[in-house]
Amino acid sequence: MTWVDAHCHLQLAGEPADELLRRAPDVDWVVVPGIDLATSRQALALAETSDRVVATTGLHPHDASSWTAERDDLAALAPLGAAIGEIGLDYYRDLSPREDQRRAFADQLRLAADLDLPAVVHCRDAFADLYEIIDETDTADRVVLHCWTGGPRWTKRFLALGVAAFSFAGPVAFETGDTVRRAARIVPPELATVETDTPYLSPPPYRGEPNEPARVAIVGSALADVWGLPVEAVAAVTSENATRIYRP
Ligand SMILES: [Zn+2]
Repeated sequence: MTWVDAHCHLQLAGEPADELLRRAPDVDWVVVPGIDLATSRQALALAETSDRVVATTGLHPHDASSWTAERDDLAALAPLGAAIGEIGLDYYRDLSPREDQRRAFADQLRLAADLDLPAVVHCRDAFADLYEIIDETDTADRVVLHCWTGGPRWTKRFLALGVAAFSFAGPVAFETGDTVRRAARIVPPELATVETDTPYLSPPPYRGEPNEPARVAIVGSALADVWGLPVEAVAAVTSENATRIYRP
């Protein structure tokens, strides 16, 4: 049984990427998203040295106010990656003005459409605006909602909009994760991926520690419980989905 860790910031972890991958022998490959220009370049460099790494490039909503300065360089890198991301909206931390976040998000969704690439999307406390921008840019079929934490109501709306996938992370295994488990129950397995979001969101019993790709199986087995499926079936279907999206 092998897994794909569909969102794993190896370049932000405190340990060398090859060491973290060595400790994850049951992880076939990982998606390493950029969050700005420097980390997008690092992701591409990792993908060049390891056939277990797929890189994506993009500007995270926290840094959206750098969009004007980094746009041209990021657009030049974008065709070298497997997706645009991580992009999105974060109204919980509000580290960039919301207007800047919306502009950077919409522009990068259009870039994904121009390049015919998937888009890795982060959302926190911004579901209504996220929905509206994806709808307006007509990009739902390329959107992967990473670290999905929306409840059943928003899950149904994004399913109806036609997003490519919901990606589940540590919260689906948290003791406090009932809302995301109720959401996961209505997501068809063929529209799901699993991820660690390394180095963040370590699942139990490792909460509070830096996360690493070896723990993706904990996320997968939490989903297996939600769906009432054997864990092997979840590993197989989520790996197929990741391959279809990131390595077509
Ligand atoms: Zn991330």
